[in-house]
This record gives sequence, C-alpha cells and structure tokens, in this order.
Amino acid sequence: MELLRNAVRPYAWGSRTTIPALQGREVPAPHPEAELWMGAHPGDPSRILGADGVERTLLELLEGDPIGHLGEETAQRWNNRLPFLLKILAVEEPLSMQAHPSAEQSAEGHAREEAAGIPRDASNRNYPDPTAKPELVCALTEFHALAGFRDPAQTVKLLRAVETPGLAKYTELLAAQPDSDGMRALFTTWITLPQASLDELLPEVLDACVLHVKEHGEFDAECRTVLELGEAHPRDAGVLAALLLNRLTLSAGEAIYLPAGNLHLYLHGTAVEILANSDNILRCGLTPKHVDVPELLRVVDFECCDMPILTGEPSECGAVYHTDAPEFELSRCEWEAGEDHELLVRPGSPQILLCTAGELLVRAEDGKELTLGRGESMWLPASDPAVRVRPLGAGRTQLFRATSGK
Ligand SMILES: [Zn+2]
Repeated sequence: MELLRNAVRPYAWGSRTTIPALQGREVPAPHPEAELWMGAHPGDPSRILGADGVERTLLELLEGDPIGHLGEETAQRWNNRLPFLLKILAVEEPLSMQAHPSAEQSAEGHAREEAAGIPRDASNRNYPDPTAKPELVCALTEFHALAGFRDPAQTVKLLRAVETPGLAKYTELLAAQPDSDGMRALFTTWITLPQASLDELLPEVLDACVLHVKEHGEFDAECRTVLELGEAHPRDAGVLAALLLNRLTLSAGEAIYLPAGNLHLYLHGTAVEILANSDNILRCGLTPKHVDVPELLRVVDFECCDMPILTGEPSECGAVYHTDAPEFELSRCEWEAGEDHELLVRPGSPQILLCTAGELLVRAEDGKELTLGRGESMWLPASDPAVRVRPLGAGRTQLFRATSGK
C-alpha cells in the first residue's frame, strides 16, 4: 500500500477553492481546479514515491507487474490496464452536454477513425480509445445535473408552461408522439436547427423562462438552468435540448449512474466520480470543444425515464453503489464522531482508498501502517495483504473505496 500523488486538471469550469481546501492548500488557488485524478490514465497518471526515493507513475508500476497490481482476473480481462479512474469533480460552472458510446460503438468508432488516419490527440477525434466510458457520480455536497430524457408527458407539460408562439409547433410534435421516438424527433430537430431559426427561437424561450421563474412556476429549477445555460451560450441549440433532460439535485451520499448513451451535463457541486478509463466523449453543444452532432445522434439513448437516484446498498459501514459497469465498483464508508469500528479491506483486486473527511489509520496485516488525511488517497495492489482501516480523529470521517467491477 502506498500514498498516491495525484494530478489536478485545471479546466475552466472548475472551482478555485474546493480541491485546494480539501487538500489543505491555500485558497483560492490561482487557477480553476476542476478534477483530481486518481488512477493510471495515460494522460495524467497518479505517482508513487518508491523506497529508493524515486517517483514512478502508477502506469509504470502496472507495466512492471500487472498481475501483482491488478490480480490475475482484472489483468486478464482488461489487458493489463487499470479499468477505472477515480476523480473528485469540483464543478463551478456547467460542463458540456455529452454522451458516451458503448463498448461496441467505441470499438467500431475507434477502428473507423484509425482507418481514416485521424491522430488520436486531434481535437476532432471522437474515439481516442476503443473502450466504453460508463460513469457514476456520488455527491459530496449538493450536486446538480441534467441527465437522461424526462418522461415526455412531463416535458409536454413543461413546454406548455413556458409556451411561446415559436415553441408551440415543437410542443405539439412531442404531444402527438409522447414516447422515445417523439423525443428523438424533437431533439434531432432542435439540435440541427439552422442558426437563423435558433436566433429567433432562443430569445423567445429565454424570455418565457424569465417569466416562469418570476411567477414561481412548477418548473422553476428547470427554467433557471435553461437561463443559466442561455446566458453563457445564447446561440447554442444545447440550451433548447436542456429543456428535455431530467433536472436532478443530489444530496451528499446520493449518486447517479450514467450508462452508455445517457445524455448528461453536470451543473454545480462537488462529487466523487468513478468512470471507465476512457476518453470517448460525444458532445452536442454548450462548449467551445469539438461537437459532432451526427455521431452523437448515433449513440444517444432516447428511452425516457426518471433517472434513478442511487443511495447504495447498505454495507457494514456505509453503502455500495452497484451498477452493471464491469469496469468499476464504488463504495462509501462513514464514521460518525466517536465511532471507531474497523473496516477490513481484502484486496484480491486493485483498490484505491480516498479519504474525504477526517483522518484514517490504515494498518496492513504485515504490520505496515499509513495515515490517510482528508483529500489523500492510497493504492492497494491486488496482491497486498488485507488492511484494517479506522478513524484517527474524533470527528466525522469518510472513506471512498474504488475497485474493479464484476
Ligand atoms: Zn460524461
């Protein structure tokens, strides 16, 4: 077991206070700090300080001893790669609207772009790697997101509540076919509207949203989000598309799972995110980055539903967030002030332990000990002996544990 030294990604939508405060650094940081990466992503792998005083990346260590680090099963299944990446997300401003391809779509898209000779780091590359990218986000603070298409009957109600003359024909389109095909038709129409039509429709819709918010209408939160996105991207079709997605507020400890095809957008808040170690993202707007609408339309799932909010299956000390993603499993462990029961972690598969509140003592069966402070994380290779984890301080303590899925 070793402490991880992790990279911070400075994307513009990040917070200048959340990650520095979590790590006990000076706030505000000079630049936005959006994501803390824990894992072996080739773009920014975590590092471990060796007994010889030399720092190595987790990627190098895995290459040197894949079976020792990953265990035989994970090494074989994922071709000697760590299948997941653990992150802290510090979202100050909304991200882009995006969806991720399935394993089959990723393999096909990757092969197609390789054959076309598009460099893997090109800005218009959709499939830099051939693998899927399911994600699970677990809130550390109140966390806001748009995800998955709302029940069409509810969306018709929303569109009628913000009715404007320009919107009426689209509302009736969905009302006439209130199912996933109707949703596909409306989304496709909006996302491909000529700029001139958008420039007419968007101001009308934004004005209607202002009115709805003033009157404290039923869809207040939805309209406020549309207004926020419209202010940042006043000519972007993604603002209209935002009217179609579920507007979610997660409390700390609640999570959502975003499988392949789920259209989503993170709005605000701090979360722990676990995802497959892939960069395959298809964006449809609300970003200066590469947008590929035809390719996005091929992968988006238009099945409409309420997005389930996951509280996790209760475990001895917290909850396990089960999903159908074979790449990862995330669990959470909590100690209230004064509680000091021990958590036993048996590796067998690769594990990352992340402390998000308080301070923890980790003691291995071979006698090795390590202190894990708030904002710190550690790597536990599959072949390591079992460890016992317990809080060091008297206050509330929280641990997240990431491992490969089943
Ligand atoms: Zn995503």
